[in-house]
Amino acid sequence: MPKLIAFALFILMMISNSFALDMKWFGATCLLFEDEKTRLIVDPFVTRVPLHKVLFNSKVESNKERVKKYFGPSDKKTVIFISHTHYDHVLDLPEVMRLNPKALVYGTKDVIPILTANKIEPKKLKVVKEGSSISFDQFEVNFFEVRHTNLPMNIEFARGVSKISKDSGARDFKMESNLSFFLKHKEKKILFHPTAIPREYPAFGEIDLLIVGLTSKNIDELKEKLIAKIKAKKVYPVHNDNFFIDFEKKLRKMPFYPTLGSFPEGKLPLSIN
Ligand SMILES: [Zn+2]
Repeated sequence: MPKLIAFALFILMMISNSFALDMKWFGATCLLFEDEKTRLIVDPFVTRVPLHKVLFNSKVESNKERVKKYFGPSDKKTVIFISHTHYDHVLDLPEVMRLNPKALVYGTKDVIPILTANKIEPKKLKVVKEGSSISFDQFEVNFFEVRHTNLPMNIEFARGVSKISKDSGARDFKMESNLSFFLKHKEKKILFHPTAIPREYPAFGEIDLLIVGLTSKNIDELKEKLIAKIKAKKVYPVHNDNFFIDFEKKLRKMPFYPTLGSFPEGKLPLSIN
């Protein structure tokens, strides 16, 4: 009899594990949330662009092999969220959609020129904004609008509507709005806030994870007005890695960007669990 109980417990454990949410960080704000049926890709960006190419606005292209390796065809339902349409959030979106023709993408209307330039039907995009909520499989998501962090000296980086062609450079990817989201997956509650500018959120109660972008040199306001207010069991900083370095090389911090505690060791992708 004890053997039978042990076996039943083992089966229960396997079942509950198979429904668990697996989370990975791919640098910048590129994330993967995955359970046994569904994968949610946030801001697909595994093709790195060296700094000189960004400065000279040289032509940028997806690294097709790299994208296939991490976000290639899958039996799982593929859903993609785009926070905003700067190249370091959206460069690999067209290639992910080519590899996963049934994938649905949620984002602002800024995504439309990226799709049409790549001959992807714009109806594949579901436009979301402040107050939009969606659910699919075990995922329930509420979207919010957030402000993008400015560059030093308060310079706005690449604002406006993207004009994408086959010769586009990183700075041709422009944005007008930026999204954050609150995600519930079974009993897990996660807030993804991709910018260093805080905002007020509804009371979520205690949440499991706050994923926050440290995209500014000065994060005191972020600490005071967001991190201290959101009661999160764990805070996971993102977008403070040096994303000009090849994805498969050693992970490094972006010079001058802050950390919350120590900067993670190792290579991407890193498990957040
Ligand atoms: Zn940006």
